[in-house]
Amino acid sequence: MENCIEKHVQSIAAKIDVKMYPDNLTEFTVPYLLETLDVPKEELINQINGLRASGNLILKDPYQTMACPSCGSPDPFSRMVCPKCGSVKIEIKGNNVECKECGLRAGILEALNFVCKTCGKNFGVGNAKWITLGSLHALNAPDIGSVATAIKSLGIYPKRCHAVTGASGMIHHFDFVFEHNESASVVDVEVEQDAVNVKYLMEFLSKVYDSGIKEAYFIAVPKLNVPIDPGKKNIKVIEASSIEGASDKLKQILIEHGISSKIVH
Ligand SMILES: [Zn+2]
Ligand SMILES: [Zn+2]
Repeated sequence: MENCIEKHVQSIAAKIDVKMYPDNLTEFTVPYLLETLDVPKEELINQINGLRASGNLILKDPYQTMACPSCGSPDPFSRMVCPKCGSVKIEIKGNNVECKECGLRAGILEALNFVCKTCGKNFGVGNAKWITLGSLHALNAPDIGSVATAIKSLGIYPKRCHAVTGASGMIHHFDFVFEHNESASVVDVEVEQDAVNVKYLMEFLSKVYDSGIKEAYFIAVPKLNVPIDPGKKNIKVIEASSIEGASDKLKQILIEHGISSKIVH
């Protein structure tokens, strides 16, 4: 199950926005796609943290930005305010400002004031908080998103890393589960440099049989290390040199199996 979550998290890591506070607090904005994972959000966040700790996910193009000291929201708007009387009628003269209300002269930094767009808090340069923003990047992780895109192009919405309880009582996770011909269809994706070990196909088939799944697709990129055909009409091994190529093949097979009859006009 962990592998399944990891696969999906890494697949769309670049869409996970990260907000890091100076006090080591980190927030993640998890995209919709990850929220369709059949996993509680807490566990998802733990997985993301685990993948970061192990170096599989790194922060890409981080940058620092000023944030509200009260609510942590970045992107406040700035203005000039008289540090003495609070007036915004300020004239800038070189590196100094002059208040048109009370006549005070002060340095620009003293008069620079920020207003939080979220909570309305006023703050100066001295008490602003600096946070780090960025998005995550997965190292060496294949992007299996094109499989979801291929299925969605037929008007079907697959669930990611979905759990199915088998006849044995065991809970099996599949990379994608979707409704087709009024029953659940499943897809697992394995990607290797040279060839996918056939033992993963065997594990897949035992999950499929135990779950009573009638339509099942095993994507092996670029191929299986031992060529095996399950020999059943609706249980197929799809081999292709890329995930995109395999996704196209899956789409063609689904169309041949009548998936498009109700959807494509
Ligand atoms: Zn003033
Ligand atoms: Zn705020």
